[in-house]
Amino acid sequence: MNATPEHGLPRRTVAAALVAAPALWLGARAQPAAARLATPSQTEGPFYPVRLPQDSDNDLLRNGTLNYRRGQPAWVDGTVTDLDGKPLRGAQVEIWQCDENGHYHHPGDGDRADAAFQGFGRVAVGEDGSWRFRTIRPVAYSGRTPHIHVKVKLGTRELLTTQLYVAGDPGNARDFLWRNLPQAAKDAVTVPFERGPDGLQARFPIVVAA
Ligand code: FE
Repeated sequence: MNATPEHGLPRRTVAAALVAAPALWLGARAQPAAARLATPSQTEGPFYPVRLPQDSDNDLLRNGTLNYRRGQPAWVDGTVTDLDGKPLRGAQVEIWQCDENGHYHHPGDGDRADAAFQGFGRVAVGEDGSWRFRTIRPVAYSGRTPHIHVKVKLGTRELLTTQLYVAGDPGNARDFLWRNLPQAAKDAVTVPFERGPDGLQARFPIVVAA
């Protein structure tokens, strides 16, 4: 007992620091909400659908009557909030991505995507700003690290176009878009795909200047 205070700090200082720590933490949480960073935008890329698919709900693994059974199924969910942290009511979130073979439903990609993969989905956020998609963990294709394209709309206004990346994917560092992002932007658009009770799950909190 009476252990020597670590790092040679007088014991009183250590005690004071322990008392002060929660206050500092609360202080950080209570900082002006405007300090929230807007999710950085990224290029739309060439494969936003020319025609929206007839089935464009939030389940990309079921296209019409077809079920997509390739790839790693994943839930991708999140929120849309404004810079004050308030849910952005009425917002719509769209995602689009390539199938497990790296193909988009797009003439620019030869319309080669698997017919069972919906490839695009749109959902209105809930009262609390939440949204959710059923899709696959994104895969790499010609020169790109795995990513999911994301758009946020409010009515006809496009508030944000960005891309979501997989934390820890070895392709990220080689990706010409990802590697040129400042660290804070990388952190904002790169999220883990982790095993949870419902399978693979990724959570993407989106912040927009409304
Ligand atoms: Fe893409």
